[in-house]
Amino acid sequence: MIYIKHEEEIELIRKSALLVSNTLALIAELLKEGVTGLYLDQKAEEFIRSHNAIPAFKGLNGYPGTLCISKNEAVVHGIPNKDIFKQGDTVSIDCGVLMNEFYGDSAYTFIIGDSSEEIKKLVRVTEESLYKGIDQAIAGNRVGDISYAIMYHTEKMQHYGVVKELVGHGVGRNLHEAPEVPNYGSKGKGPMLKEGMVIAIEPMINLGTRQVKQLNDGWTIVTKDGKCSAHFEHTLVIRKDKAEILSDHQPVKESIKNNPELLKYFV
Ligand code: MG
Ligand code: MG
Repeated sequence: MIYIKHEEEIELIRKSALLVSNTLALIAELLKEGVTGLYLDQKAEEFIRSHNAIPAFKGLNGYPGTLCISKNEAVVHGIPNKDIFKQGDTVSIDCGVLMNEFYGDSAYTFIIGDSSEEIKKLVRVTEESLYKGIDQAIAGNRVGDISYAIMYHTEKMQHYGVVKELVGHGVGRNLHEAPEVPNYGSKGKGPMLKEGMVIAIEPMINLGTRQVKQLNDGWTIVTKDGKCSAHFEHTLVIRKDKAEILSDHQPVKESIKNNPELLKYFV
């Protein structure tokens, strides 16, 4: 069942999504060579709780972290650990919060120092594909229109691998609601999009094969060929002519600009 949200509910989801955005912005201030994912995770949890909110991922099916920190060949669901970040790491940070009974969900991929042209392009094109998907997220279109736009921009145009095992989703009183929003599919297929539906779109795009596997930690999803993966996510509400993005990557980009250790290539 796909819930249509009232404006009051949408405002609460926006508040949660903006707290996620500000958490990602804080992480973008702190992320650099030599720090650990565990340190970032602690800072994120403190920040979220100081706003009378709850980290949404923590405890979900037993997940131990506030953030998912997925480095290089990790696609998503990387558990924060004691490993230190190094120059050239590509780091996807995914965060969710629960506040006032509503969830928000967003993700961003950072590069520490510098990286190869092909990885920089992967990250840029993955972010672009998020907005290609959002362009299709309007009332009267179908979920497949979003999926196709992402797939076209990444797989068709660049021959990247589009991960099929993990998908975007509805957001509301649950972190993951109907409908599923795959990053591959066909135009005109899938559930009809209606004004007031709130969804998270989250392309997960691999430099090489689309094939993924799960590590023995029971969480981390990595590419089968060990090549880099990127991931961006927004929570948004379907409107008549243009989706309204409820999360906000602008504060994240501001933090990147002010952090000398992060690559500014795509900001
Ligand atoms: Mg997420
Ligand atoms: Mg999500």
